[in-house]
Amino acid sequence: MDLTGRPLPLWYHPLYTDGIHPEARFPRTRYTRLLERLKPFTDVENRSSPVRLVLKTPEPIDEASLRLAHDPTYIERFMVGELSEKEQKRIGLTPWTPAMVERTLRLMGGALEATQHVLEHGGIAANMAGGTHHAHRTFGSGYCIFNDLAVCALHALNHPGVERVAILDLDVHQGDGTASILQDEEAVLTVSVHCATNFPFRKTTSDHDLPLPPDSGDLAYLEAVEEALDLCMNIQPDLLLFQAGVDALDSDALGRLNVTRAGLRQRNDIVFQRAEREDVPVVVFMGGGYAKPIERTLEAFEDVFTQAAAWQHHRPNTRNPEPGQ
Ligand SMILES: [Zn+2]
Repeated sequence: MDLTGRPLPLWYHPLYTDGIHPEARFPRTRYTRLLERLKPFTDVENRSSPVRLVLKTPEPIDEASLRLAHDPTYIERFMVGELSEKEQKRIGLTPWTPAMVERTLRLMGGALEATQHVLEHGGIAANMAGGTHHAHRTFGSGYCIFNDLAVCALHALNHPGVERVAILDLDVHQGDGTASILQDEEAVLTVSVHCATNFPFRKTTSDHDLPLPPDSGDLAYLEAVEEALDLCMNIQPDLLLFQAGVDALDSDALGRLNVTRAGLRQRNDIVFQRAEREDVPVVVFMGGGYAKPIERTLEAFEDVFTQAAAWQHHRPNTRNPEPGQ
Protein backbone atom coordinates (compact mmCIF):
# COMPACT_ATOMS: atom_id res chain seq x y z
CA MET A 1 0.00 0.00 0.00
CA ASP A 2 1.34 3.41 -0.97
CA LEU A 3 1.12 5.51 2.14
CA THR A 4 2.95 8.57 0.88
CA GLY A 5 1.43 11.41 -1.09
CA ARG A 6 -0.70 12.66 1.79
CA PRO A 7 -1.90 16.28 1.65
CA LEU A 8 -1.20 18.64 4.54
CA PRO A 9 -4.35 19.18 6.63
CA LEU A 10 -4.61 22.91 7.32
CA TRP A 11 -7.19 24.33 9.72
CA TYR A 12 -8.68 27.68 8.73
CA HIS A 13 -11.75 29.80 9.45
CA PRO A 14 -12.87 33.19 8.00
CA LEU A 15 -13.20 34.45 11.58
CA TYR A 16 -9.41 34.32 11.85
CA THR A 17 -9.64 37.64 10.00
CA ASP A 18 -13.24 38.72 10.56
CA GLY A 19 -13.10 38.33 14.35
CA ILE A 20 -10.60 41.21 14.56
CA HIS A 21 -11.81 44.82 14.26
CA PRO A 22 -10.69 46.49 10.99
CA GLU A 23 -9.14 49.31 13.00
CA ALA A 24 -7.04 47.06 15.21
CA ARG A 25 -3.31 47.59 14.82
CA PHE A 26 -2.94 43.90 14.02
CA PRO A 27 -2.55 43.07 10.26
CA ARG A 28 -5.75 41.00 10.25
CA THR A 29 -5.95 40.52 6.48
CA ARG A 30 -2.86 38.33 6.58
CA TYR A 31 -5.10 35.26 6.98
CA THR A 32 -7.42 35.88 4.01
CA ARG A 33 -4.53 37.00 1.85
CA LEU A 34 -2.44 34.00 2.77
CA LEU A 35 -5.39 31.77 1.97
CA GLU A 36 -5.54 33.29 -1.52
CA ARG A 37 -1.89 32.37 -2.03
CA LEU A 38 -2.44 28.84 -0.77
CA LYS A 39 -5.73 28.21 -2.61
CA PRO A 40 -4.10 26.83 -5.80
CA PHE A 41 -2.52 24.08 -3.70
CA THR A 42 -5.90 23.04 -2.29
CA ASP A 43 -7.32 22.24 -5.74
CA VAL A 44 -4.65 19.76 -6.74
CA GLU A 45 -6.19 16.30 -7.26
CA ASN A 46 -3.03 14.61 -8.47
CA ARG A 47 -1.50 12.59 -5.63
CA SER A 48 1.93 12.81 -7.18
CA SER A 49 1.92 16.58 -6.84
CA PRO A 50 4.41 17.44 -4.08
CA VAL A 51 2.45 20.31 -2.52
CA ARG A 52 -1.15 19.58 -1.66
CA LEU A 53 -3.21 21.14 1.10
CA VAL A 54 -6.61 20.15 2.39
CA LEU A 55 -8.53 22.84 4.27
CA LYS A 56 -10.32 21.87 7.48
CA THR A 57 -12.86 23.96 9.36
CA PRO A 58 -12.33 24.12 13.12
CA GLU A 59 -15.10 23.73 15.67
CA PRO A 60 -14.92 25.95 18.76
CA ILE A 61 -12.72 24.42 21.46
CA ASP A 62 -14.45 23.02 24.56
CA GLU A 63 -13.99 24.70 27.89
CA ALA A 64 -12.49 21.64 29.57
CA SER A 65 -9.58 21.77 27.12
CA LEU A 66 -8.98 25.45 27.87
CA ARG A 67 -8.90 24.61 31.56
CA LEU A 68 -5.90 22.37 30.98
CA ALA A 69 -3.79 25.53 30.75
CA HIS A 70 -5.97 28.38 32.01
CA ASP A 71 -7.61 29.63 35.15
CA PRO A 72 -11.38 28.97 35.06
CA THR A 73 -12.18 32.51 36.24
CA TYR A 74 -10.13 34.05 33.43
CA ILE A 75 -11.83 31.79 30.87
CA GLU A 76 -15.26 32.68 32.22
CA ARG A 77 -14.60 36.42 32.27
CA PHE A 78 -13.39 36.29 28.68
CA MET A 79 -16.38 34.23 27.52
CA VAL A 80 -18.96 36.64 28.96
CA GLY A 81 -17.09 39.74 27.79
CA GLU A 82 -15.94 40.91 31.19
CA LEU A 83 -12.23 41.47 30.57
CA SER A 84 -11.36 44.99 31.70
CA GLU A 85 -10.20 47.62 29.25
CA LYS A 86 -6.71 47.27 30.69
CA GLU A 87 -6.73 43.51 30.10
CA GLN A 88 -7.99 43.99 26.54
CA LYS A 89 -5.30 46.59 25.88
CA ARG A 90 -2.63 44.24 27.13
CA ILE A 91 -3.86 41.72 24.56
CA GLY A 92 -3.81 44.47 21.96
CA LEU A 93 -6.50 43.34 19.52
CA THR A 94 -8.54 46.45 20.35
CA PRO A 95 -11.10 47.77 19.57
CA TRP A 96 -12.72 44.57 20.85
CA THR A 97 -15.37 42.90 18.68
CA PRO A 98 -18.25 40.65 19.73
CA ALA A 99 -16.86 38.08 17.29
CA MET A 100 -13.60 37.94 19.22
CA VAL A 101 -14.89 35.20 21.49
CA GLU A 102 -15.89 32.92 18.65
CA ARG A 103 -12.69 33.70 16.74
CA THR A 104 -10.63 32.73 19.76
CA LEU A 105 -12.55 29.51 20.40
CA ARG A 106 -12.31 28.44 16.73
CA LEU A 107 -8.62 29.35 16.56
CA MET A 108 -7.97 27.23 19.64
CA GLY A 109 -10.18 24.51 18.17
CA GLY A 110 -8.09 24.49 14.99
CA ALA A 111 -4.91 23.96 16.97
CA LEU A 112 -6.47 21.20 19.05
CA GLU A 113 -7.94 19.38 16.03
CA ALA A 114 -4.59 19.58 14.22
CA THR A 115 -2.92 18.09 17.29
CA GLN A 116 -5.49 15.32 17.58
CA HIS A 117 -5.01 14.60 13.87
CA VAL A 118 -1.28 13.95 14.14
CA LEU A 119 -1.74 11.96 17.34
CA GLU A 120 -3.98 9.61 15.37
CA HIS A 121 -2.35 9.69 11.94
CA GLY A 122 1.23 10.90 12.46
CA GLY A 123 2.89 13.23 9.95
CA ILE A 124 2.32 16.97 9.93
CA ALA A 125 -0.78 19.13 10.44
CA ALA A 126 -1.13 22.88 10.71
CA ASN A 127 -3.37 25.67 11.91
CA MET A 128 -3.37 28.86 9.81
CA ALA A 129 -3.35 31.08 12.90
CA GLY A 130 -2.26 30.93 16.51
CA GLY A 131 1.06 30.14 18.06
CA THR A 132 -0.31 32.29 20.87
CA HIS A 133 2.73 31.98 23.09
CA HIS A 134 2.32 35.22 25.08
CA ALA A 135 -0.90 34.07 26.77
CA HIS A 136 -0.42 33.21 30.46
CA ARG A 137 -2.60 31.12 32.75
CA THR A 138 -4.61 34.08 34.07
CA PHE A 139 -4.14 36.79 31.47
CA GLY A 140 -3.58 37.48 27.79
CA SER A 141 -0.82 39.57 26.24
CA GLY A 142 0.80 40.49 22.91
CA TYR A 143 -2.13 39.50 20.60
CA CYS A 144 -2.62 36.24 22.53
CA ILE A 145 -5.72 35.38 24.60
CA PHE A 146 -5.34 31.66 25.31
CA ASN A 147 -2.15 29.66 24.81
CA ASP A 148 -2.72 27.08 22.07
CA LEU A 149 0.75 25.54 22.46
CA ALA A 150 0.25 24.87 26.18
CA VAL A 151 -3.30 23.58 25.74
CA CYS A 152 -2.27 21.24 22.91
CA ALA A 153 0.78 19.93 24.78
CA LEU A 154 -1.30 19.13 27.86
CA HIS A 155 -4.08 17.64 25.72
CA ALA A 156 -1.55 15.38 24.00
CA LEU A 157 -0.33 14.01 27.33
CA ASN A 158 -3.80 12.51 27.82
CA HIS A 159 -3.41 10.54 24.59
CA PRO A 160 -2.31 6.91 25.04
CA GLY A 161 1.37 6.47 24.30
CA VAL A 162 2.30 10.13 24.61
CA GLU A 163 4.80 10.60 27.40
CA ARG A 164 6.82 13.59 26.30
CA VAL A 165 6.05 16.67 24.19
CA ALA A 166 8.56 19.21 22.90
CA ILE A 167 7.62 22.80 22.05
CA LEU A 168 9.99 24.46 19.59
CA ASP A 169 9.33 28.19 19.48
CA LEU A 170 11.21 29.93 16.67
CA ASP A 171 9.21 33.17 16.69
CA VAL A 172 11.38 36.27 17.16
CA HIS A 173 9.63 36.92 20.47
CA GLN A 174 10.18 34.73 23.54
CA GLY A 175 7.46 32.18 24.34
CA ASP A 176 6.97 33.66 27.79
CA GLY A 177 3.40 32.51 28.40
CA THR A 178 4.15 28.96 27.29
CA ALA A 179 7.20 28.81 29.55
CA SER A 180 5.32 30.12 32.57
CA ILE A 181 2.26 27.86 32.16
CA LEU A 182 4.42 24.76 31.68
CA GLN A 183 7.25 25.52 34.10
CA ASP A 184 6.31 22.69 36.48
CA GLU A 185 5.25 20.23 33.78
CA GLU A 186 8.14 17.81 33.44
CA ALA A 187 6.62 15.94 30.50
CA VAL A 188 6.71 19.05 28.30
CA LEU A 189 9.97 20.64 27.16
CA THR A 190 9.87 24.32 26.19
CA VAL A 191 12.61 25.66 23.92
CA SER A 192 12.60 29.24 22.64
CA VAL A 193 14.92 30.89 20.10
CA HIS A 194 14.30 34.63 20.07
CA CYS A 195 15.80 38.09 19.91
CA ALA A 196 17.07 39.17 23.33
CA THR A 197 15.95 42.78 22.88
CA ASN A 198 12.43 42.13 21.55
CA PHE A 199 9.11 41.96 23.44
CA PRO A 200 8.42 40.63 26.06
CA PHE A 201 10.85 42.84 27.92
CA ARG A 202 10.38 40.88 31.11
CA LYS A 203 11.19 37.34 29.97
CA THR A 204 10.18 34.18 31.78
CA THR A 205 12.31 31.05 31.92
CA SER A 206 11.78 28.27 29.37
CA ASP A 207 13.46 24.90 29.88
CA HIS A 208 15.93 26.21 27.32
CA ASP A 209 16.16 29.81 26.17
CA LEU A 210 18.41 30.66 23.24
CA PRO A 211 18.40 34.47 23.05
CA LEU A 212 20.19 36.08 20.12
CA PRO A 213 21.43 39.66 19.83
CA PRO A 214 19.70 41.98 17.33
CA ASP A 215 20.81 41.70 13.69
CA SER A 216 22.10 38.16 14.21
CA GLY A 217 21.25 37.18 10.62
CA ASP A 218 20.86 33.77 9.01
CA LEU A 219 23.96 31.97 10.21
CA ALA A 220 23.61 32.63 13.94
CA TYR A 221 19.84 32.05 13.79
CA LEU A 222 20.19 28.71 12.01
CA GLU A 223 22.88 27.58 14.42
CA ALA A 224 20.51 28.33 17.28
CA VAL A 225 17.71 26.46 15.47
CA GLU A 226 19.93 23.39 15.15
CA GLU A 227 20.83 23.58 18.82
CA ALA A 228 17.18 24.01 19.79
CA LEU A 229 16.20 20.98 17.70
CA ASP A 230 18.93 18.89 19.32
CA LEU A 231 17.52 19.83 22.73
CA CYS A 232 14.01 18.87 21.60
CA MET A 233 15.02 15.55 20.09
CA ASN A 234 17.22 14.63 23.07
CA ILE A 235 14.09 13.92 25.10
CA GLN A 236 12.74 11.64 22.33
CA PRO A 237 9.41 13.46 22.16
CA ASP A 238 6.22 11.76 21.02
CA LEU A 239 5.05 15.05 19.54
CA LEU A 240 6.68 18.28 18.36
CA LEU A 241 4.74 21.55 18.51
CA PHE A 242 6.41 24.04 16.15
CA GLN A 243 5.72 27.74 16.63
CA ALA A 244 6.72 28.87 13.12
CA GLY A 245 6.55 32.66 13.45
CA VAL A 246 8.27 34.48 10.60
CA ASP A 247 8.90 37.75 12.43
CA ALA A 248 12.64 37.05 12.49
CA LEU A 249 12.45 38.24 8.86
CA ASP A 250 14.67 41.19 7.86
CA SER A 251 11.63 43.16 6.63
CA ASP A 252 9.59 42.63 9.80
CA ALA A 253 8.41 45.78 11.55
CA LEU A 254 8.62 44.29 15.05
CA GLY A 255 11.39 41.66 14.92
CA ARG A 256 15.05 42.56 15.05
CA LEU A 257 16.90 39.41 14.02
CA ASN A 258 17.38 40.30 10.34
CA VAL A 259 16.95 36.79 8.90
CA THR A 260 16.34 36.44 5.14
CA ARG A 261 13.45 34.61 3.48
CA ALA A 262 15.97 32.00 2.30
CA GLY A 263 17.18 31.64 5.87
CA LEU A 264 13.66 31.00 7.10
CA ARG A 265 13.11 28.46 4.31
CA GLN A 266 16.24 26.70 5.46
CA ARG A 267 14.94 26.80 9.03
CA ASN A 268 11.68 25.13 8.00
CA ASP A 269 13.49 22.38 6.12
CA ILE A 270 15.79 21.73 9.07
CA VAL A 271 12.79 21.27 11.38
CA PHE A 272 10.71 19.08 9.06
CA GLN A 273 13.66 16.96 8.00
CA ARG A 274 14.75 16.27 11.55
CA ALA A 275 11.18 15.44 12.63
CA GLU A 276 10.84 13.02 9.74
CA ARG A 277 14.15 11.35 10.52
CA GLU A 278 13.11 10.84 14.15
CA ASP A 279 9.52 9.95 13.15
CA VAL A 280 8.03 12.62 15.40
CA PRO A 281 4.61 14.02 14.44
CA VAL A 282 4.56 17.80 14.04
CA VAL A 283 1.89 20.45 14.53
CA VAL A 284 2.64 23.81 12.91
CA PHE A 285 1.37 26.92 14.72
CA MET A 286 1.53 30.04 12.56
CA GLY A 287 3.06 32.61 14.93
CA GLY A 288 4.01 36.24 14.32
CA GLY A 289 4.80 38.17 11.14
CA TYR A 290 4.40 41.91 10.71
CA ALA A 291 6.40 43.05 7.68
CA LYS A 292 5.61 46.33 6.00
CA PRO A 293 4.50 45.76 3.33
CA ILE A 294 2.80 42.59 4.61
CA GLU A 295 3.65 40.75 1.33
CA ARG A 296 7.07 39.80 2.69
CA THR A 297 5.38 38.13 5.67
CA LEU A 298 2.86 36.39 3.42
CA GLU A 299 5.64 34.99 1.24
CA ALA A 300 7.40 33.61 4.30
CA PHE A 301 4.19 32.05 5.63
CA GLU A 302 3.43 30.59 2.21
CA ASP A 303 6.87 28.97 2.47
CA VAL A 304 6.07 27.54 5.92
CA PHE A 305 2.87 25.84 4.79
CA THR A 306 4.00 24.70 1.34
CA GLN A 307 7.23 23.30 2.79
CA ALA A 308 5.21 21.50 5.45
CA ALA A 309 3.06 20.05 2.66
CA ALA A 310 6.12 19.00 0.66
CA TRP A 311 7.60 17.17 3.65
CA GLN A 312 4.24 15.59 4.41
CA HIS A 313 4.01 14.39 0.80
CA HIS A 314 6.93 12.03 0.96
CA ARG A 315 6.82 11.25 4.67
CA PRO A 316 5.93 7.62 5.18
CA ASN A 317 2.80 7.08 7.24
CA THR A 318 3.89 4.84 10.08
CA ARG A 319 0.56 5.15 11.89
CA ASN A 320 -3.12 4.81 11.00
CA PRO A 321 -3.69 5.78 7.39
CA GLU A 322 -6.50 8.24 6.95
CA PRO A 323 -9.63 7.03 5.24
CA GLY A 324 -9.95 7.90 1.56
CA GLN A 325 -6.30 8.70 0.97
ZN1 LIG B 1 6.38 37.16 17.41
